[in-house]
Amino acid sequence: MSLLRQPILLLARSQGVKKLVSTMPVSSGIVTSYVPGETTADAVGATAGLVDDGLRVTLDYLGEDTTDAAQADATVAAYKDVLAELSRRGLAAHAEVSVKLSAIGQFLPDTVEPGGGHKIALENAREICRAARNAGTTVTLDMEDHTTTDSTLSILRELRKDFPETGAVLQAMLHRTEADCRALAYEGSRVRLCKGAYMEPEDVAFQDKVEIDKSYVRCLKVLLGGQGYPMIATHDPRMIQIASSLASRFGRRPGTYEFQMLYGIRPEEQKRLAAAGETVRVYIPYGTEWYGYLMRRLAEKPQNLAFFLRSLVSKK
Ligand code: FAD
Repeated sequence: MSLLRQPILLLARSQGVKKLVSTMPVSSGIVTSYVPGETTADAVGATAGLVDDGLRVTLDYLGEDTTDAAQADATVAAYKDVLAELSRRGLAAHAEVSVKLSAIGQFLPDTVEPGGGHKIALENAREICRAARNAGTTVTLDMEDHTTTDSTLSILRELRKDFPETGAVLQAMLHRTEADCRALAYEGSRVRLCKGAYMEPEDVAFQDKVEIDKSYVRCLKVLLGGQGYPMIATHDPRMIQIASSLASRFGRRPGTYEFQMLYGIRPEEQKRLAAAGETVRVYIPYGTEWYGYLMRRLAEKPQNLAFFLRSLVSKK
């Protein structure tokens, strides 16, 4: 991991920094390079463009860590709205949604409902899964920091009883992930493997980039050698190459797994892989709550920081 990654993620937690950064209008160049807009129309417009290019999409209505039940309800409503619009525009076969459980109640206090946020997040996720199924598409549960992993995987297990098509995300940087991959590599199980975007302590996570990459490859072997549907989420050329050779070594045909990348990152590579016959899905975040997402992207690519600081100062 880059030397600057942890300090940027730490700084991002400051409310002062959040306030300053959030005053930037979404039109500011650095935000729009990662987020196509704030509304359902912006999200569906970007989806249509990518689908025209032969790509698939997963849409993330931005928001996380909410402690406000009304905010969680508004997020569920936003997902229902975008799913209805995808269906109306005939895009649901090509586009699904990604959901952060902390945006739909996982952190709500026990005072809101006995059993706490876990229960509320499960019910809200169920409502989104139902809307997705009615629209003809699926949901993937994003994975947040390691304190949420057990709760998220337990909600996944509950959801899969009624909606077995629900996808999971596992993060190669966590020590536990290879075992989690084994547990989830069963038939029909959609699993997105990423490196992990959060600042994690060394007792639970690899800190060194080389160690994270090695873990990513071990997890790829488990998932591609298993019975499930692996979703290989990385922009790293080496990981993409290794995944391709493992896929052929395990006799996987394109369409029995997919590559995934983030909106705005390596768009030419996204199109190149799709043109070569691979299934490629682009993760599109949209909405006004872009702060946490943007800070994680800046932490991954500190070269962007100078550009970002300039746009902060000029408040474009
Ligand atoms: P890296 O080694 O970080 O990057 C490899 C190369 O990719 C870089 O050299 C650069 O060329 C390019 N690149 C990477 N990041 C950037 C950037 N920000 N700007 C410009 N170029 C860049 N993480 C989670 O913790 N939970 C999730 O649920 C989750 N979902 C994801 C879904 C998708 C579809 C993707 C693609 C990623 C997701 N992530 C998630 C983020 C992931 O964990 C990584 O933080 C992120 O993808 C960067 O890792 P990398 O594999 O691309 O490799």
